[in-house]
Amino acid sequence: MSEVMDIKVTQTVKTRLHDQSLENAPFGHYFTDHMLVAEYKNGAWVSAEIVPYQPLQLDPSLAALHYGQSIFEGIKAYKDDTDNVVIFRPLDNFKRFNISAQRMQMPDVPEEIFIGGMKKLIDLDRNWIPGIANHSLYIRPFMFATDAILGVKPSETYKFVIILSPSGPYFSAPMRIYVEEKYTRAVTGGVGFTKNAGNYGASMHPTIKARELGYDQVLWTDSVEHKYLQEVGMMNVFFIINNVAITPSLEEGTILAGITRDSAIQVLKDMGLNVEERKINIDEIIDAYKANTFTEVFGTGTAATISMIKELRYKDFVMNFNTDESKIAPELKQRLDDIRKSKAPDKYGWLVKI
Ligand SMILES: *Cc1c(COP(=O)(O)O)cnc(C)c1O
Repeated sequence: MSEVMDIKVTQTVKTRLHDQSLENAPFGHYFTDHMLVAEYKNGAWVSAEIVPYQPLQLDPSLAALHYGQSIFEGIKAYKDDTDNVVIFRPLDNFKRFNISAQRMQMPDVPEEIFIGGMKKLIDLDRNWIPGIANHSLYIRPFMFATDAILGVKPSETYKFVIILSPSGPYFSAPMRIYVEEKYTRAVTGGVGFTKNAGNYGASMHPTIKARELGYDQVLWTDSVEHKYLQEVGMMNVFFIINNVAITPSLEEGTILAGITRDSAIQVLKDMGLNVEERKINIDEIIDAYKANTFTEVFGTGTAATISMIKELRYKDFVMNFNTDESKIAPELKQRLDDIRKSKAPDKYGWLVKI
């Protein structure tokens, strides 16, 4: 492993930075000058290097394309007013990545490559991090199977790659949400708790169906009764009922353990709210709405942080929320932003400096 820790760097001869503007960069459109690529074979990570950003050459029989061993992470780094750069909770993403890897029968990626390589890469492409309000650097680590054999078995070779994308404000207008009763994102014993590419592939058709009905996203429910609430699109979901924050619990393995979710739980407690992680039945939500105790609902995730929801529809019952009057979601977002931009103390040790 010692050669691996010594990550070799081949610098680009010409930066592409001046061709593109960092200001208001759309999410995930532009990529920095360099990327990290590590190779796994014969039971070990044999190389890790930083090279100019470039296309990968892939065999048509590539295992990931046929049988889906492919996982990823999403992380953000921020530059503050004094040009300090911090990454938000990357060690939590590192741990979650290896949880996904184990479930998908893929090798663990060592911390030297995941975190060490990420820091080195970000440092090299530091100029690409927008120091503008509400901007960030989106970090996308991913791993996929590279065996070039059409046989259904765990691949023996893998690539781990990190790419970086500067991104402008990810404005999320208050969403209209359709409670999904036909399709399912995750089942007990399945892979809902992993960040594997297939979960996203499977979500697209139901999402487009909901769009056709005028909704932005679906609220996923359990596969048996279609009553127990899971996640909203690819975000975790919180309900504010009687001034208590309620979010689905993780133990069934059907919820992705969001790092924004975990951060939100901490910060909501700091704000003086009680937080409950438990099973939530749609009937309870409807009763609370009718009793006027259900005041806010929002999604959490790295890309948008907090996305407010203005409408929830279950069968023919429509619940409306005046998000202009929301108190909790905007304060939560502000507090999380302040921690990330080093405007509030980092009392939980969430920031990793570069
Ligand atoms: C990535 C993801 C989230 C959000 O996780 P964060 O760590 O907060 O970005 C939530 N749900 C699903 C299904 C996801 O893939």
